[in-house]
Amino acid sequence: MNNVLKFFDDVIKKGHLSHSYLLAGTEDLDLAKTIAQKILCKQEHTGCGSCSSCLKLASDNHPDFMVISPDGASIKNAQIESFQEFVFIRPFESLYKIIIFDEAHLMTDRAQNRILKVLEEPPTYAIFIFLTRQVEAMLETVKSRCQIVQVLDDQVKSIDIEMYEKAVELIKGIEKQDVGRVLEYGTYFKQIKPKVSDFLNLLSSILRDIMIFRETRNYQLITEANFSILNYEDLLSKISKSLSRRKNVELIGMIEDVDQKLKNNMNYDLTVDKLLFKCIEREA
Ligand SMILES: [Zn+2]
Repeated sequence: MNNVLKFFDDVIKKGHLSHSYLLAGTEDLDLAKTIAQKILCKQEHTGCGSCSSCLKLASDNHPDFMVISPDGASIKNAQIESFQEFVFIRPFESLYKIIIFDEAHLMTDRAQNRILKVLEEPPTYAIFIFLTRQVEAMLETVKSRCQIVQVLDDQVKSIDIEMYEKAVELIKGIEKQDVGRVLEYGTYFKQIKPKVSDFLNLLSSILRDIMIFRETRNYQLITEANFSILNYEDLLSKISKSLSRRKNVELIGMIEDVDQKLKNNMNYDLTVDKLLFKCIEREA
């Protein structure tokens, strides 16, 4: 399944929906509508296609759903005004009200600033989804209010969300010095043997971003794909505080070393065990 949809399925299931998402790298309105359909669907958020909410959405008749697309070359003031009217009226038949901004970079700075005021204090039921291939053209103040979800096009290797979650769980285990949780990864490593290099690269890329964040506190420097996952639950700041710089550096080095050893056909189980023991080693 599309990774972005999987991401939203997980977020919906866990009840962790944020107010604002920026889908970076896509202007696929159908994708955004599918996300909205799931959020609004009355059949356990499946996007069933047959409940009253899904039917209304399909016929462009849903009272709690709005799309703002550029009118000509830009998104016009009048459109922002109708958005402002729409967003402050409570939803009619759903728990949520969803507003999609297509080609969001075509909003003028003035329009973005007006929207920013709503983003800063959104009504509890409001969810905003911005779509753009030109993230750099969006105001920093608007971006910083959004959870950025990087949508990778087909040429870029797609991220295996399950593997991603496993990597994040392992890093949480390291951070909490949770010996049990970390050692359980022995089994996981056995399952992913053919793809172990991908997993190690992912771990090392996350640890690098944690290090960069510790040193700079600058979200903009974080790989967007990592950012969309790590900022969820505010993991970046939590882990960068509790994991020492020294251990952070050691782990990155060790992971690269393990990757190399496995490529050279060193004993798989022993090499992986050494890594896991390093993960839970107490600092002197
Ligand atoms: Zn439905």
